[in-house]
Parts: sequence; structure tokens; C-alpha cells
Amino acid sequence: MSQNKDLYSSPYYKEPGPPLDKESPFESMMERFRFAAKILELDEGMFQYLSNPVKSVTVSIPIIMDNGNIRVFEGYRVIHDNVLGPSKGGLRYTPNVTIEEVKALAAWMTWKCAVVNVPFGGAKGAVRCNPKELSLRELEQITRRYTAEMIEVIGPDRDIPAPDMNTNEQIMAWIMDTYSMHSRRTDNAVVTGKPIILGGSKGRKEATGRGVVTVTLEALNKLGIMANKCRVVIQGFGNVGSVTARLLYERGARIVGISDVTGGYYHPDGIDIDQALLHVQESGGTLYGFQGAEKITNEELLELDCDVLIPAALQDQINKLNARNIKARAIIEGANGPITANADTILDDMGILIIPDILANAGGVTVSYFEWVQDRHGYFWTEDRVNRRLNRMMRDAFQLLYEVKEKHSITLRQAAYVYAIQKVSDTLRIRGIYA
Ligand code: NAD
Repeated sequence: MSQNKDLYSSPYYKEPGPPLDKESPFESMMERFRFAAKILELDEGMFQYLSNPVKSVTVSIPIIMDNGNIRVFEGYRVIHDNVLGPSKGGLRYTPNVTIEEVKALAAWMTWKCAVVNVPFGGAKGAVRCNPKELSLRELEQITRRYTAEMIEVIGPDRDIPAPDMNTNEQIMAWIMDTYSMHSRRTDNAVVTGKPIILGGSKGRKEATGRGVVTVTLEALNKLGIMANKCRVVIQGFGNVGSVTARLLYERGARIVGISDVTGGYYHPDGIDIDQALLHVQESGGTLYGFQGAEKITNEELLELDCDVLIPAALQDQINKLNARNIKARAIIEGANGPITANADTILDDMGILIIPDILANAGGVTVSYFEWVQDRHGYFWTEDRVNRRLNRMMRDAFQLLYEVKEKHSITLRQAAYVYAIQKVSDTLRIRGIYA
């Protein structure tokens, strides 16, 4: 019996996603990358450079399991680029992860960091394991050995991991401790997403939802809709979805639909979000049994009549099968890759404003950057300062991308890729290629 049950029986535990297919977010990302490269008339050499990671490391992680047997796991860390600064990206523990998936996710981080103007390159790491089957001791051993094997790859000035699927604050704490033992000093800037007591940042947990809200308000402004007159539908009521719902509700928006893995909940006059949050807290983490709204399916939820739709759960939720039924005037991508490339084209033709994931959910990486800055200064900010600076960076990024969109008469998503690719390639040209 796993001693690690508590950690991975929580709603935060995610089962591995579906295998990559033509409509995978990664393929969609590459398609968008190619489109932006064309607009920028990127030369072949630069295209090649940006299509390939600068470093891709695979390590074996031997562990003595609780039953006394040795078992060897495989770990990866891919640095897609470090042109703008040290690379940054999550570390995930999933049983069927591949190096190809890690490479794609690392590239994604490059564009996300560039879009919000944090001075980081992009990276991603993974260990092929099923944390549900591991004890806490085994998990710690895997984490510490992975860190030791990657000791020359990661570092506050080199590459900074963060939590991702099935990893959390505790795992970041073990990485920080192992790295610090090797460097013979306390190096808390080697990871972000740490517990506050170890140098984590205030406001980090809410940062992604808060960033989603900032760009939602900017989008409403462009559409001439007042926040307190706006009808919002949110898919997913976890970290991102519930914070987004609460903050928009506080601003007077009418949240007409919410959902989670247990289904959708609809009320045309608006759902009492405080009541929904209380229900989740009291019922062990889900909206199941919530009485303050009519029960609908997640499919119906996406097609509700509203001003703003915020998918904040899973990838590929809006695809060519349902895109034509969407009634929202704006879609804010709280999740990564909730709209497929095929659906994108349909939604653009319908005149729907889409705020792309690499902008909309970049509040998390922005506050990770703040955490790294605070660790390096050894001086910690108030939550209010974190939130103000986050809002400012998200707003600035939105405005910047909007200008690029208008200049090239392209969508905001295309503008995000154009801006990011231009920034990285311009910086690379000035730095030059070392040989
Ligand atoms: P979470 O695990 O806290 O919440 C996920 C929510 O989605 C839960 O409410 C869950 O019940 C719901 N859900 C699961 N399956 C569903 C389904 N089939 N239909 C509807 N809802 C379903 O996760 P999170 O941290 O809020 O992340 C949500 C999305 O945002 C993911 O795509 C994640 O990659 C992305 N994201 C998160 C962060 C962050 O800081 N948390 C940052 C960037 C991007």
C-alpha cells in the first residue's frame, strides 16, 4: 500500500493525458510557430535554431524501492533556449512521458516567457514514473537523485525548474535542498513554486488566475463591455478556474456557468461564487452536489450564451466539432492548448477575440520570476506588491501584443508568436553564435 496516497489522491493529481495526435497542442504550437516565422521572413538558419533545443539530457535514476529491490527510472531535462536568460520550466512526473513531449513543452515555455517579458529562456523536465504507485520515501529518493544527476544542468543562473503535473511544493523543497547540499550553501533560487517558508513568493498560488483576470478585463475593454455587465462561463474550478471565478465575481461580473470534472453548473442570473467555493471546500474538492445552479454537461457549458468563455481545465476542449456552436464574444485560454488549431480558424472567421494561452496563463511564470528575483535579493515583497507588479506586466504584455496584432492585421495568438520569435531571434543575432 502506498504511503503516498494523500498527495496523489488529491484533486491535483492528474492522470496522463491522451497520446499526441494531429490536433495535439504541441502540433498546434508548431503550426503557429511556422506561421509566425513566415510573417517575420525568418531565414532558414534561424528557423532551424529555434526549432531545436540547445540541450536535451536523459538520465537514469536508480532507486532502492521499499521492498529492497533496485528500480531504474528515466529522467529528462530539455533546455529549448537560453538566449534571453536562464531557462525556466516545470518538472512533471508522469508514467508515459516522452522526450519528444518534453522538447515541445520546453519550446512552449520559450515563447511564454518572451511574451510577458520575463528574462528567461524555456525548458521542461520530466521523470517517467507513476507517483500514485510510489511511497513518499521513494518519491523523495527519485527527486533527490534526479537533482544530483542534473546538477550541472540546473542552477539559479542556468535553469530553474518549477512544479508541473504531479509535482508540488514539497518536491521543489527536496530539489532546493539537494542542490544546496551540493553547492554547500543555501541556493533557494534554483527552483520556484517553493513553500513560502523556503523563499517562495506570496501571491504565487493565485498568480495564474489573477493574470487571467487582468487580460480578461483588457479584452472586455477592447470589446466595449463593462466588467459588471459581463456574463462569464468558466470551464474548470481548480487552481486557475476558481481564482478566476472569484476575482471576476468580486468585480461584479455575472458568472453564469462553472464546471469541473463532475459536470457543468448553470444559472442565467449568475452563480454565487462564494457559495460554490464553500461547497468545494466542504465536499472534498469538487462541485458535485452543488445546489446553486442547474446541472448541465461540460459540452453544453462551452456552448452557453455569454460574453466571455474561459476554458481553464484541459487541452483540446474547443475543436472543429464544437467550435461553430460557441457563442462567446471572447475566449480567454486559462488552460494550456484548450483550442485546437483547426478550431482557431473557425473561431477567427466567427469574429471571436481569443486571448492565447501563452499570454493569458503567463501570470504563473511571471510570479515565478518574482520569486527568483526575491530569492536572489534575499528580500521578500508583500502580496500587494506582487499583485500590483503582476497586473502591470500582464497589462503591458496585452497592450504590446495588441499593437503587433493591429500592425500586421493578424490574430492576437499570431501576434504573440510573432512578438516572441522576433524578440528571441533579435537577441540571438546581437549575441551572435559562439564557435
Ligand atoms: P487543477 O488540477 O487545479 O484544476 C483542474 C480543474 O479542471 C478541476 O476543477 C477539475 O475538476 C477540472 N476538470 C478536469 N477534467 C475536466 C473535464 N473533463 N471537464 C471539465 N473540467 C475538468 O489545475 P489548474 O492548475 O487549475 O490548471 C488548469 C489548466 O491551466 C491546465 O491546462 C494547466 O496546464 C493550466 N495552467 C495552470 C497554471 C497554474 O499555475 N496552475 C499555469 C499555467 C497553465
